[in-house]
Amino acid sequence: MIPTIPTRTDAFVLCPCSGTATISTVAPIADDPDRMRHLYTCLDCGKELTFDVDKKAKEPAQESAPQVQDDKDPD
Ligand SMILES: [Zn+2]
Repeated sequence: MIPTIPTRTDAFVLCPCSGTATISTVAPIADDPDRMRHLYTCLDCGKELTFDVDKKAKEPAQESAPQVQDDKDPD
């Protein structure tokens, strides 16, 4: 199962084209030292996806829970 929103340990993320994007770059964010910018490149369409990911979980309880945002419109 590929997440649509990656956590800091996810090497893959789901592209909007329903393809798989693999992580290509991890870079610090100058104005947000608590997070890293993860850049993923889709293997199917070549689209680049950027996510700002927390460096460390703020609450240990959330560490094991998949961080999935349900942005599907029921309609
Ligand atoms: Zn794609």
